[in-house]
Amino acid sequence: MIPKEKFVESFYNFKLSLDNDALLMYNTKRGTVVLLESRQAKEFENYLENPKYDSNSSLISELKKLGFLIEPDANELNEIRAWHDKFRKDKRLLHITMLPSESCNFACPYCFQYQKRNKFMKDWVYEAVLNFIKNITLENQAIGEETYVKINWFGGEPLLQANKIINFHEKLKILSENLNLKYDAVVVTNGYLLNPHLMKTFVNLGIKDFQVTLDGNKDTHDSLRRLKNGSGTFDTIYTNLKCIRDLPKEYRFRILIRVNFLKNSLSSVYELIDKFKEDFSHDDRFHIYCRPVYDFETTRNDIVSIDSQILPFQEAIERQRDLAFKIIYELKYKSLGILTEPLPFPAPLWCPVERWYSYIFGADGLIFPCETYIGNTQESVGYIEKDGTIRFNENLYKWKKTIFDEENSYCLSCKLLPVCMGGCKRERLKHVSNKACYWNEEIILDTMQKFYFLLKNE
Ligand code: SF4
Ligand code: SF4
Repeated sequence: MIPKEKFVESFYNFKLSLDNDALLMYNTKRGTVVLLESRQAKEFENYLENPKYDSNSSLISELKKLGFLIEPDANELNEIRAWHDKFRKDKRLLHITMLPSESCNFACPYCFQYQKRNKFMKDWVYEAVLNFIKNITLENQAIGEETYVKINWFGGEPLLQANKIINFHEKLKILSENLNLKYDAVVVTNGYLLNPHLMKTFVNLGIKDFQVTLDGNKDTHDSLRRLKNGSGTFDTIYTNLKCIRDLPKEYRFRILIRVNFLKNSLSSVYELIDKFKEDFSHDDRFHIYCRPVYDFETTRNDIVSIDSQILPFQEAIERQRDLAFKIIYELKYKSLGILTEPLPFPAPLWCPVERWYSYIFGADGLIFPCETYIGNTQESVGYIEKDGTIRFNENLYKWKKTIFDEENSYCLSCKLLPVCMGGCKRERLKHVSNKACYWNEEIILDTMQKFYFLLKNE
C-alpha cells in the first residue's frame, strides 16, 4: 500500500545530472540548492519512481525540509499566490522612495531619468511624508500592529540635499521613539559627496545601507560617469570609500558597489573587481555586484553615443552571471546571502511597484509609479497633501494589477515564478505580449553547471 503521507516532487525543482551520476538540485520556491552523490541520487530516484517505497532516511527527511519533496496534496501555486498577495497588501510595511533632489551633479549618458525636473524637494513634502507615516502607524497601532518603514533616498543625486535627509531622519527617529514604528533606510548615491563625516552622521541616525556606483577602472568610469563640467569622478569616489573604510568597525553600515557594464567595458570591470578585492575584501561592510546598462527608451541625445555598446538582453544576463562567479570566486562567497547570485532567490515581488503601500514621492509631492518614470508628470499616479493624505489618480490601477489578475498568464505555469513573479512591471506594460522574462530555464541549468564547477574546485 502506498503510505498516505508519501511526499512528491516539487514542481519548482531544477535537476542537473552530473558526472559520476551525482545530481545538483535547485528549488526556486525555497531558494535551496543541494548536491546529491550518486548513492543519494539513486535513493531519491527510487523514492520518486517506486510508489510503494517510502523512507524516513535522513536524506529524504532533509529533502522534505528543503522543499524538494512536498506533501502530496500541497498546492504550490496557491501557496505562492498567498505569499505574493499578503506581501502586496500588507499595510504594516511601507516602501517609501524619497526624491530630495530631482537634479544631479553628474551627466551620465545612460541615465534613464531623461525628464529630470531639476527640483529640490520642498520642505512641506518632507513634513507631509512624516505625517503620512505617522497616520498609518497610528492606524496599525490601533489594531495592535507594528509599522515598518523602508526609506529609499533616491534622485537625481540625493546627497545634494544631505542636510534635509538628516533633518527628516531626526524627526523620524523621534516618531519611532514615541510610536510602534521601526524603519531602515538606504541611500542610492553616486558617492561623490559621501564622505566619512556624513557617513558617521547617517549611521548615528539609523541610515545604514548605501549603494554607490563605479563603472570599471578609472579610465572607463571617468568616460561614463562625469561631472556636468566634464571632469572625471573616480578618484573622489574611491578616496571617499577608502576613508569610510577606515572608520572604526563599530560604525556598522553596508555599502554595495554597483557596477554598470557595457560591451566594451567588461575588461575594465574585471580590473575593478581585482582592485576592490585588494582594498575592501577584508571589510565585511563592503560588497560589490554588477548589472548591465539597460536599453530603456529615452529622449536623451547622448545615449546614442553608447547605444551600440548596450548588450543584447540574453548576452547581458550571461555576462552578469560570469561577473557574479568572478566575485564569488575572488571574494570567497562574500556576496552569497546578500545578493541573489549566482542563482536567484525567491521573492514575493520583482520590485515594490505592485505593492499597495509603496510610494515614490517627487520633489513637489507628486507620486511616481516606477523609478524610470521619475519626473514624468504624465505618468504620475497621484500626490500627497500637507496633512499626509494620499490622492491617487486612475493611472495607479494598471501598476497594481499582477500576473495573478492577468488572464492566460504564461507565468503561472513557469518554474521560475517564485524568483520572478512576472518580472519588471514596466516591461509587462510596455510589450504587447506582456513578456518580461529575465532568467530562463536554459540559463538556470547552465548557471547550475558553472556553480557545480565552482563547488568542485573549492
Ligand atoms: S517596474 Fe521595472 S523599471 Fe520600474 S522600478 Fe520595477 S523593476 Fe524597475
Ligand atoms: S516573466 Fe518569464 S521567467 Fe518570469 S515568471 Fe513569467 S514566464 Fe517565468
